[in-house]
Amino acid sequence: MSASNPAIKVAFIGMGPRALGALEALVENCMAKSQAIAVSVFDELQLGGAGPNFDPDQSELGLLNTPMRALQIDPSLNLPCGGFNDWQKKLGEPDSDRFASRAELGAYLEQRYRDVVGLSEVLTVTCHKARATALQRDGDHWRVTTETEDYGPFDEILLVPGQPQTKTDDQWATWEDHAEKRDLCCMQAYPDRHVLKAASEWSDRKVGIRGLGLSTFDVLRYLTVGQGGTFENDAYQPSGSEPKCIYAFSLNGQPPFPKPVDGTLDQRFDLKDPEIENFVAALNDAVAEAPDQALTLIFDALVQPAARIGSEMFAGYDVDDIREWLEIERDAPGDQETHEPIDTLRHGITMADGSAPPTVGYVIGQIWRKLQNDIRAGFNSAEKSPETAKAIVGFDEGLKRYSYGPPLSSARELLALIDCKLVSLAVVEDPDIALVRQGWRLIDDKAATVSVMINAVLAPPSLDKITDPMVVKLKSENILRETYEGSGAHTTPDGQVVNADGDVSTGLCVLGRLSLGSVIAVDSVHDCFGASTHRWAEGVSSRMQNR
Ligand SMILES: Cc1cc2nc3c(=O)[nH]c(=O)nc-3n(C[C@H](O)[C@H](O)[C@H](O)COP(=O)(O)OP(=O)(O)OC[C@H]3O[C@@H](n4cnc5c(N)ncnc54)[C@H](O)[C@@H]3O)c2cc1C
Repeated sequence: MSASNPAIKVAFIGMGPRALGALEALVENCMAKSQAIAVSVFDELQLGGAGPNFDPDQSELGLLNTPMRALQIDPSLNLPCGGFNDWQKKLGEPDSDRFASRAELGAYLEQRYRDVVGLSEVLTVTCHKARATALQRDGDHWRVTTETEDYGPFDEILLVPGQPQTKTDDQWATWEDHAEKRDLCCMQAYPDRHVLKAASEWSDRKVGIRGLGLSTFDVLRYLTVGQGGTFENDAYQPSGSEPKCIYAFSLNGQPPFPKPVDGTLDQRFDLKDPEIENFVAALNDAVAEAPDQALTLIFDALVQPAARIGSEMFAGYDVDDIREWLEIERDAPGDQETHEPIDTLRHGITMADGSAPPTVGYVIGQIWRKLQNDIRAGFNSAEKSPETAKAIVGFDEGLKRYSYGPPLSSARELLALIDCKLVSLAVVEDPDIALVRQGWRLIDDKAATVSVMINAVLAPPSLDKITDPMVVKLKSENILRETYEGSGAHTTPDGQVVNADGDVSTGLCVLGRLSLGSVIAVDSVHDCFGASTHRWAEGVSSRMQNR
C-alpha cells in the first residue's frame, strides 16, 4: 500500500499507553484509506508506549491490578509483538490468574510502540525528548512550544499527558514544610527507586503512609520485600532491614476489597446477557436525566443482577437491602463500612477466596467492574448535564474500593504484616495529626509518631488545581475549561476540546484523565486502548477529509 494524499501532521503531547492506543487507532484508520500520517511526539520521558506507571525499569514489586485473564488489550493491527497474554506465554508465564508486574506490561508496551512505529507504510514518527510548555493556534493549524523551540504547523494536537503536574494539597504542603524544618523525611510513593533506596536506612524509623488505596500495597512491598523480607505461607519473614513500624492511614482506615481469587470464583459475578442489555439501556436513559433520576435508573438495573448473584452465593440479603445500600452509597460513599479496619480486611479476604458469602457492596463492586466498558460506552459518547456527569462519575470513583481492588495475595500480605505487628491500619482525621519535633504523631499515642511520611494518594485531575504551565496557559486563554467544579477539561465524545464559550477548538483534543467528567473510568489500561481512541482517530480522519 502506498499513501497518496499529503500526510496528516499530528502532534502527540505525551507518549504513554493512551497515546499508543490513539496512535494505533489512527494508523488503522489511515491504512484503510491509504492516508499518510506524520506524527511528532513530545515527551521528556523516553518510555514510548509504557509511560511512567508501566516503566519497565521499575522494580517487579509494583503489580498490575488486573489478572492476566482479564487484561484484554490485544492490538487490532497486525504487530509482531502480538497480544500481551501471548507475549507472556512466550516468556514462560502462562498462568491466567497471575497479576503480572507493571514493569512486565511496560516492556511489552514499549515493544508494541516500536512495532507500530515500524509500520512505515503510512506512518513517520519524529520524537522530541521535551516537555510541551505552550500550544498556539496558527490559522487552521496549531504550533507546539517547548522550553527551547517552536514546532509546527500541525493539523491536529492530541493531549495525552496522564495526570499533569498538580498543586500540592494543603496538608501535604504543610508536612513538606515541617519535614524541611525538622530534617524529617517526606516523599512520594513513586518513582519506586526513591523509596527503595531511602528505605534501606529506615530500620530504626517509623513510617507513615498517607492513603489506603492500591499504591499503599506497592509502598508496603517496597518497605518489606524490597528490604529483603519474604512472605511464606501467609506469614512474613522479616529481614531486619524494614522500618521499625509502618502506619498506613486514611480518613476511615478501611482497606480496599481484594478481587476474587481466580477465574472460577470471578465468573460467579458475571452478568447474563439480558442483564447487561438492561443496564446499557438504563444507562442510555440515565445520562439524559437529572442526577438523582439518573442514579435511580442505574440502581434499578443493578438490583436484580445483584439479588440473583447474592442468592446463588447464599448471601442472605434481598432487593430492599440492595436498594438501601445503593442509596446510602450514593449519599456517602464508603460510610456504611463501619467495622474495624482489620475486620474489614479479614472479611474482604474471605469474600475474595470464596469462603464467605459476598456482601451487597462486594457484589455491586464486582458487577460494576465487569460493566466498565459498557459504562464508558454509554457515558463518554452521550450529551449530559454537568450535574449528571458529576453524580455518575462520583458513584464510579466511590466504588473503586471494590471495583479496582488489589490482588488477593496483596491483601493477605497486608494481613501477615499486621499479624507480625510491623503494620498498623489507622483511622486518622487530619486535625488529630500533631506536628511534633520527632515527626508526625498520628493518633493520641506517643508510640504512633513517625519520622518518615510517604504520600500514596494520587492528586485528582481537577483542572483548577493543575499547575503544568501548558495546561495553565490553555486555561487562562479560556481554551480549556471544567465540565463541573473539580472535573477535568470539557471535551466532545471524540476528544475535541470545548472552550469557555462552548465552542469546539477544532484540531485540539484531549484523551484520558485530564478530561475526567466528560469521560468516565479513565484509570485503566483498557480505556487507553478503548473506543475513545477510535472515536478520536475517526474525528481526525473526517476533519482532514473535509478540509
Ligand atoms: C501508580 C499507578 C499504577 C497504576 N496501575 C494500573 C494498573 O495496574 N492497571 C491499569 O489498568 N491502570 C493502572 N493505572 C492507571 C494508569 O494511569 C493508566 O492505565 C495509564 O498509565 C494511563 O496512561 P496515559 O498514557 O494516559 O498516562 P501516562 O502513562 O501518565 O503517560 C503520560 C505521558 O505524558 C507525558 N507528559 C505529561 N505532560 C507532558 C507535557 N507537558 N509535554 C510532553 N509530555 C508530557 C508524561 O511524561 C508521560 O510519559 C495506574 C496508575 C498509577 C498512577
